[in-house]
Amino acid sequence: MKNAQCKKCLNNFYEKEIYTIQQFQYRKEPPYKWSVEYFKKLGITEWDSFCEKCISDHSKVSEREWKDLKI
Ligand SMILES: [Zn+2]
Repeated sequence: MKNAQCKKCLNNFYEKEIYTIQQFQYRKEPPYKWSVEYFKKLGITEWDSFCEKCISDHSKVSEREWKDLKI
């Protein structure tokens, strides 16, 4: 049953197809602590669910913001 909802696109997905920003712990940059603060400002917590496409969008946008900060 598709009972997990993506917070961004609001489509329903299988629970195993859902991601959270906790997966950003594994990227080298930006640091996870920065990511958590960044998403908090957007109203997103570590427990919010996203589909693969939306988590990848969040990943790209946050990475771009991080790079802009360093210039
Ligand atoms: Zn989505």
